[in-house]
Amino acid sequence: MLDIVLRKVQVEGQQVDVGIAGDTIVQVEPEIEERGCREIDGQNRVAITGFVDCHLHLDKSHLMDRASYQDVSGPEKGALTRREKACFTEEDIYKRAERVVQTGLQAGNIAIRTSADVDPLVGLAGVKALLALKGKYAGLVDIQVAAFAQEGMEKYPETVELLRQALQLGADLVGGHTIIDADGRGHIDTILDLAREFDVEAEFHLDESGNREHYLLPYLAQRMIELGLQGRVTGIHCCTLSALTPGERQEALELIKESSLKVISAPTAISTRALAPVKELLAAGVLVGIGSDNVRDFFNPIGSGDIKQIALLLAYVQRFFTADDIKQLWEMLTCKGAALLGYRGYGIAVGNRADVTVLDAHSPVEVFSRQAPPVVLVRGGRDITTEILGR
Ligand SMILES: [Zn+2]
Repeated sequence: MLDIVLRKVQVEGQQVDVGIAGDTIVQVEPEIEERGCREIDGQNRVAITGFVDCHLHLDKSHLMDRASYQDVSGPEKGALTRREKACFTEEDIYKRAERVVQTGLQAGNIAIRTSADVDPLVGLAGVKALLALKGKYAGLVDIQVAAFAQEGMEKYPETVELLRQALQLGADLVGGHTIIDADGRGHIDTILDLAREFDVEAEFHLDESGNREHYLLPYLAQRMIELGLQGRVTGIHCCTLSALTPGERQEALELIKESSLKVISAPTAISTRALAPVKELLAAGVLVGIGSDNVRDFFNPIGSGDIKQIALLLAYVQRFFTADDIKQLWEMLTCKGAALLGYRGYGIAVGNRADVTVLDAHSPVEVFSRQAPPVVLVRGGRDITTEILGR
């Protein structure tokens, strides 16, 4: 007898039964004869491993609970954030971040990647808090922590040593921000050096402003190729792509492909500038994921950590409306996002870890349209539906 059999769930458009023994998926068949200790009727609803949110700032989330939003410029929002950040404690960060992780789990997340600011203002408190959260949620939501040089290294040169310490503590990767230092190239080189020193991936808030004078994507891609870092680096935002001429954009796509630079779209950025052209990137074969980015802080005072909301926003802004567009959007939230984060064993398939999220909808388009929540959550072979969803 199997431990759990999920009857009549829809996996990649096919109705199947999913058999689970221990923490592993052991059968995926149109009809499983064997009974399960626990039988769940999926009613032909959509089943996935879980959603993947490729980019968050958990350490700064929910600041709006104690500060009020001011509609000021980006640098002014940065200054407001620095003022708050100087008062952050590990416990405070942990509590605020956990709310977002819980919301994500309840919405069906299986994996997220978050930045943690590392600088003399906050020290290593963000990294420590988020690594503790990663430990607590292991097996429920896979959390990757990027030690992030948000404030740059020209104003705060001590950051380089702090990033090194963060990586020694166990941060999963290192993050840079290419417009923060006057010498953007030097910033990129320092971050890539750290990635090589610790053999971790790197990610950059890349060309975030959308302005042509901040266009460093070609330099980064070139350095990736020279250093043998193809496929080991991700660019978040890449907004300047939308300001290029068609010819320049074609050159950029060639460079992205040659370097295997991965790209994360953070669609809430549309409130202040144009987004990178996601459909063009996908058509060129670039690995693209989607991230919630800021959640209830000075840069985005609304949001929750439910990535479906953000995907819906991208759908409207860049017209992901045809059946093929919806499929592409779905893949960015599922298998492609997982591939971008290097998540192993993603997918409802025999031999994979028994992580199954059944959503209250019969198609991906219904999931987006109705913002359908999960009705069944299985993590590592354990049915946690009641524990997490309260039903
Ligand atoms: Zn960000």
